[in-house]
This record gives sequence, structure tokens and C-alpha cells, in this order.
Amino acid sequence: MSKIRLGVMGGTFDPIHFGHLVAASEAASAFDLDKVLFVPTGEPWQKQEITSSAHRVEMTRLAIAGNSLFDISTIDVDRSGPTYTVDTLRDIHTAYPAADVFFITGADSISQIDTWKDSEQIWPLANFVGVTRPGHSLEVPKSARGEVSLLEIPALAISSTDIRARVKAGKPIDYLLPNAVIDYIHAKHLYQGTK
Ligand code: NAP
Repeated sequence: MSKIRLGVMGGTFDPIHFGHLVAASEAASAFDLDKVLFVPTGEPWQKQEITSSAHRVEMTRLAIAGNSLFDISTIDVDRSGPTYTVDTLRDIHTAYPAADVFFITGADSISQIDTWKDSEQIWPLANFVGVTRPGHSLEVPKSARGEVSLLEIPALAISSTDIRARVKAGKPIDYLLPNAVIDYIHAKHLYQGTK
């Protein structure tokens, strides 16, 4: 029996937007993936002031609804303490022992892997797919000891930071993210204060 090819899309998703969804779809096509699991981060150890994981998980659920290739995993928000990718990937291997894992995330994040906890143990646990925004060059970490692939995603010109700033300034966010997520942001009054 052939191994399942599993994409693991890690991100803060604050909020999730069409750039993330296109990136997952493109990665699935490029690497012939059977499924892409969206894994919202719990408490990112290098950041502060992010929206609660309950809101980020719900927005992710709404965004992927209806796509049978996509699913969500709450392993990172369910684990207490800061989110470390080494734990994410170990937990994924426990849940999917027969999977070939492709960890997909922003290229800026992939280029930082050397600074992450137990970085030397991370490499053997997955193939790495760094998705880039147009015009952003990308460097594969010199110490990369595994498979790192780069994929340029034009739709990633959309950014979560920009969406948050637009909401705060009262500007429209239509066509940048799914309507169900836009409705949720407005209903819960997200991004109207600081950040
Ligand atoms: P981030 O700072 O939110 O994202 C960095 C950049 O990548 C941003 O430009 C972001 O765009 C983009 N991005 C993030 N996730 C993406 C995705 N899945 N697809 C496309 N673009 C994406 O980084 P992060 O979200 O906190 O972390 C990304 C992943 O790396 C998570 O799984 C996290 O747990 C892991 N990580 C691990 C460690 C560690 O083990 N020590 C440290 C840092 C990160 P947007 O702003 O538009 O989303």
C-alpha cells in the first residue's frame, strides 16, 4: 500500500486569507498531496498579542469548509505551552504513522528554522515547502539537512497584517478572504483595537 502524502500547513492564521488557501491548493497540486491539514499555532513563542486560538481555529474551519482535500488539526492549540514545530511534526507522525509529511509554511518562517527548538531534529521529520510572496527572494537555510522546496504564490500578496490594519482603519477586506471569515471578523469585532 502506498503511503499517504500529507500536507501540514502551519501558521498563525490571524486571520486566514486566500493567500493561505491558494498556497495549500498549489502545494497539494505540485506535490501530489492526498490531504492538507491546516494547523493553527497555539502560542507562538516568538510573538505576542495574537488573537485567541479559539477565534483563529474557528476562522480556519470556516475558510476550509467545503474543500474535501482540506482539514484542520488543533494539535498545536490543544498542547499546552508554546508551539514548537518539532512537537507539531512528532504529533502528526503519531496520528498518521504511515504518512509522508510535507510541512508547508511561509518562506520567511522556513528560513528561520535554524533558530527553532531542536532544529536538527526537525529536518528528518518532513519535507519542507516554503511559499513565497512575489518579489520576495528566499533563501534555503544553509544548514538545511532535508528536502526544502520553494513555491511562489502570487496570491500571497495578501497578508494577515494588512487585513488587520484594514479592519482597524475601517477599510474593506472584500475579496481578500472568504466571506464566512469576513462575517465572523465583523460579528466578533476582531482587529478593531490594537495591533
Ligand atoms: P508568521 O510570522 O505568522 O508568518 C511568517 C510569514 O509567513 C508571514 O508573512 C505569513 O503571512 C506567512 N505565512 C505563515 N504561515 C503561512 C502559510 N501556512 N502559508 C503561507 N504563508 C504563511 O509565522 P507563524 O505563522 O508564526 O509560523 C509559521 C509556522 O512555523 C507555524 O507552524 C509555527 O508553529 C512554526 N514556527 C515554529 C517555531 C519553532 O518551532 N520554534 C518558531 C516559529 C514558527 P501572513 O501574515 O499573511 O499569514
